[in-house]
Amino acid sequence: MKLAKLNDGPEIFHTLQGEGVSAGLPATFIRASRCNLHCRWCDTDYTWNFEGTPWKHDFDTRPGYAKHRKEDVTIEISPEAIADVVRPLPPRRVVLTGGEPLLQESGWLELIGLLRDGSEAWAFEVETNGTRIPSDAFAEAVDQFNVSPKLANSGMDPSLRLVPGALEYFAASPKAWFKFVAASPDDLREIDELAERFRIRPERILLMPEGRTGAELDRHAAELAEACVARGWRFSDRLHVRLWGD
Ligand code: SF4
Repeated sequence: MKLAKLNDGPEIFHTLQGEGVSAGLPATFIRASRCNLHCRWCDTDYTWNFEGTPWKHDFDTRPGYAKHRKEDVTIEISPEAIADVVRPLPPRRVVLTGGEPLLQESGWLELIGLLRDGSEAWAFEVETNGTRIPSDAFAEAVDQFNVSPKLANSGMDPSLRLVPGALEYFAASPKAWFKFVAASPDDLREIDELAERFRIRPERILLMPEGRTGAELDRHAAELAEACVARGWRFSDRLHVRLWGD
């Protein structure tokens, strides 16, 4: 499998799930390399924005910004080796993140099989951009999809971020929850439109404030909380920003 590389090893860490429906639960995160989107504000662009890739964003004109050397930020590792790292860690909740983890389904399936090994104690969440329909086997194997459809502010063309069939699939899945970060009334209007178009049930939508510090989160929180009350959506804080500033 291709994972993001951190300190010469795979990016695997245990912490609290910072947002969404399982916020606050301890979990081990495994970060996949590669993404099929290239959002303008992506904070994990080391998973896809490699030297030699053709993406053209304001990244390219930002002073001092450089694309990543693929060999510095990517590591090849087998599901067996990942399982050996994850098994001794305390949480039995694993979050497959990225990048876009659904690009590497077969490797995850093998990993999940190795970790579960007859035990019901494990739970697996997938953080996805909602552009790919998972196979039946994968959907069966995991416990939860945290779907974050990308809005116009990502800079991605709608044909890339709203893939026919994919959001409908997740909207109908009992395992899927939808997470949106909103920073403006335009974002809220767009989420309203997506919810209506893809028939996403209100109780499955979580709205989160945008911000890189607790103070920034607080600036939007009250307004978003009101939007949630009015629409029957759930409000989610972003604990990782509050606790660790990332
Ligand atoms: Fe980054 Fe996520 Fe957008 Fe991929 S979908 S480019 S990982 S923000």
